[in-house]
Amino acid sequence: MTEEATEGKATSSHRRPIRVDPTFKHEVLSEPGGESLQQCFQCGTCTAGCIIAEHSDDYKGPRKIIRMAQLGLVDELLSSPELWFCATCYSCTEVCPQGVAAKDIIRVLQNLAVKKGYVPQGYQKIAENIMKTGWAQKTSKFKLKKREKQGLPPLPETNLEEVEKLMKVTGLDDIAEPKEEEED
Ligand code: SF4
Ligand code: SF4
Repeated sequence: MTEEATEGKATSSHRRPIRVDPTFKHEVLSEPGGESLQQCFQCGTCTAGCIIAEHSDDYKGPRKIIRMAQLGLVDELLSSPELWFCATCYSCTEVCPQGVAAKDIIRVLQNLAVKKGYVPQGYQKIAENIMKTGWAQKTSKFKLKKREKQGLPPLPETNLEEVEKLMKVTGLDDIAEPKEEEED
């Protein structure tokens, strides 16, 4: 079941419908790590101690994310760049008086976002690199020469067949869309 709400200015020309899905919380609650969603009573202690929220104007912290999930603001939440700001420090989980695993809930939401096709470009690039080379970051010819000059051994060969199998098992191959690129 879904409901529609509106946000923005009072005039109808400025209203933008937002989808509210009251069943969304059940989807989160049923995922490993999402079980504590409904224990949050919005005290804000987590956000007050979040290192990223403290230093970023664009990230309002875990409290907001959890509230959006509770309310079922699915599209707004899953397409939001804020879902990807978290540095996985687990401070929010440590300080929560309600025992809410905020970081784990964020991970659940990230996984749901990816399933719905919301993958930040940076992560997509990493998946492409792994698929093509087995490495998260491509090593440039310049760096390879520098390693050689410094007497470092060559980088180990990657078994791309094994990498491909792993990517299929984990579903990472769906995220990666390799494109031909020029060598740097
Ligand atoms: S997750 Fe915990 S600390 Fe954060 S707002 Fe909810 S109850 Fe408070
Ligand atoms: S785990 Fe993420 S959301 Fe929680 S305090 Fe650390 S950076 Fe903030």
